[in-house]
This record gives sequence, structure tokens and C-alpha cells, in this order.
Amino acid sequence: MADSDTQIPAKLERRGLLFVLSSPSGAGKSTLSRMLLASEPEVALSVSCTTRPPRPGEVDGKDYHFIDVPTFKQMAKDGQFLEWAHVFSHRYGTPKEPVEAALSSGRDVLFDIDWQGAQQLYQEAGPDVVRVFILPPSIEELERRLHTRAQDSDAVIGERMARAKAEIGHWDGYDYVLINDDVERCFAQVRQILTAERLKRRRQKGLIGFVRDLVAD
Ligand code: 5GP
Repeated sequence: MADSDTQIPAKLERRGLLFVLSSPSGAGKSTLSRMLLASEPEVALSVSCTTRPPRPGEVDGKDYHFIDVPTFKQMAKDGQFLEWAHVFSHRYGTPKEPVEAALSSGRDVLFDIDWQGAQQLYQEAGPDVVRVFILPPSIEELERRLHTRAQDSDAVIGERMARAKAEIGHWDGYDYVLINDDVERCFAQVRQILTAERLKRRRQKGLIGFVRDLVAD
């Protein structure tokens, strides 16, 4: 699909959407997020805050804002998060301000958050939220991918497998559920969802003026 295929004509103003991608770790969500950001200039990534330490190669401000627990608690108290949750015994939260800035500049925002975040975001901004859940093709494949990644110890991987199964149980809290057995195909499906959601009538704010001009004498 050419990049331009998923864009709405520039003259039509539209309402930005909050595009949530959730999955158990290892199901390919990070790869899909990267692919989406590389091919969709109108999508901005929401960079979360977390109290977990950075993994090798992770960059502060790009992968996460790595902050300590007191700072996190203060931000939560000050209402600076759109949502936040405990995941794997650490805190993760979505800073509100960059999301509002991206939406008001006409961009969509991509969220790599868990089911708790998706649920809270939906409560906050239901009609603007599109929730996509990515499933692995099998539990064996998920385990293989977690081992290949090799950034975590066996104990951590075991914990993540248990957690993955719990996370999978929340598939029915999503609007779309995709099985990632082929990353290119899954990516094409993600873009199809984005395109269809962008084209929803209620998101195309510019339609009224456009149609008025179309039928004007
Ligand atoms: P990881 O530590 O592997 O980067 O992320 C662990 C889990 O936390 C993933 O499922 C990820 O989607 C989720 N997560 C990352 N940021 C946020 C956030 O801001 N809010 C919520 N609720 N979950 C998040």
C-alpha cells in the first residue's frame, strides 16, 4: 500500500484518534508500532513514563521517560497522566499534555499500553479511542520470541509468560483482534483499520463544509 493511500485529503479537517495497540510482550507489538510510525507521518507516538529501569539499548525520552517512584506518584497526584497502571510490579503512565498537543495539531496518537490503560483511555475518551489487540499465533511461538529477544533472565521470561496468558484473557476489551503470524500481513491489517477509522464520518470534521461547497449553486 502506498503511503498516500491511507491519508485523508489534506483539505478535509478531521478529528485525531487515539490508536491503542496492546498485546502480551513478544507478540510483535513493538515491531508493528515502529512500522506504523515509519509509514504514517500523521501518527505521533505517546511516550509513557515508567518506574522500571531501562533495558539495554533503550533511550530515555524515546522509548520511555524513565522516572523514579516519588516523581511518578507526584505526577499521578497532579493529574498529569491520562491513565496509569501497575504492570509487572512497576508503574507505567501516559502523560496527558503531549497527547493533547498532538491531537490539537490534527495528528493521531499511537499508544503501546496494556489492557488497564486501554480501559482507562476508553473511559476518558471513548469515541476517539480505537483499540487493537495483537495475539501471537501460539504460546510456543510467544515463548520462542521472548527467548530470542534475550534481554531478560529466564526467571523474568517465566514471569512474562504467565503474565502473557493473563493479558491474552483481556482480548474481549478491544475493538479489533489480530493474529500476528506474519508481521507484514498483520501490519497491513493495522493500516487498514487505521484508514477505515479515519474515514468514519464523525471523524471527518471538514465534511460539512466540503459537501456544502459540492452542492452550492
Ligand atoms: P515493557 O516493560 O515490556 O516495555 O512494557 C510492559 C507492559 O506495559 C506492556 O504491555 C506495555 O504495553 C505496557 N505499558 C507501557 N506503557 C504503558 C502506559 O503508559 N500505561 C499502561 N497502562 N501500560 C503501559
